Amino acid sequence: MAAGAALAAVTGIASTEAVECPRKDALGTSRILSVDAKTTPRVGLKSFPQTLPLADHEVVLTFDDGPHPPTTSKVLAALAQECVRATFFLIGLHASEHPDMVKRIAREGHSIGHHTFSHPFMARIPLDKAKSEIDRGIAADEMALHGTPTTTPSTQFFRFPYFEATQAELDLLQSRGIVVFGADLWASDWNEMTPEQELKLVTERLAAAGKGIILFHDPKARTAAIMPAFLRYLRENGYRVVHVVPAGTSQKSADAH
Ligand SMILES: [Zn+2]
Repeated sequence: MAAGAALAAVTGIASTEAVECPRKDALGTSRILSVDAKTTPRVGLKSFPQTLPLADHEVVLTFDDGPHPPTTSKVLAALAQECVRATFFLIGLHASEHPDMVKRIAREGHSIGHHTFSHPFMARIPLDKAKSEIDRGIAADEMALHGTPTTTPSTQFFRFPYFEATQAELDLLQSRGIVVFGADLWASDWNEMTPEQELKLVTERLAAAGKGIILFHDPKARTAAIMPAFLRYLRENGYRVVHVVPAGTSQKSADAH
């Protein structure tokens, strides 16, 4: 905790202990990292020079492009089985089609980030259209979550589709206090491969990196299929899962969601 507190002092990222898991041999969520856009506007080494202050063998699990109930529900079940909390970057259109699944993701303690309304290539459209994609996406996610189509996100996390952004778009999100998430490594689960191949690929990449923000896509059946085995791999190889929440989220409110 002393090291965590010192780190928090220099980075503005607060760290607290995670809630206890009823299953004692589960992987569990080892700690909660609160991320502040003021000091940490962008993270993820695939796109940016800086990332989250993770220790060796610490991972942050992120899932993009859902919700897609048939596969998202399997991913949620695997996470629940191991008491692991993740972050889901939702496509607003999908959130508006499956509000119950959005509520379930939040109810099970995961963070809900935003990923535009319709997943365009954001560097190839005018800034006003990009802004509208960001706002419509947030509004659709908030509508599904809380019944109010506000463009002020309750979780100030955003990820660009295809990791493609202009400087003006990055500046816009920073001015709105929204953290832009890239990733440190990914499963390449958009490529055709078997679940076995995906599991081998992502665990090899993780072993090479040693830690990091990992990107998956919960609508992918192969990703849903490997999630129990992937979490088992984390547990058996001494990895610890860190749950990211926006700055200002207290432990109590994180639990209540
Ligand atoms: Zn995406």
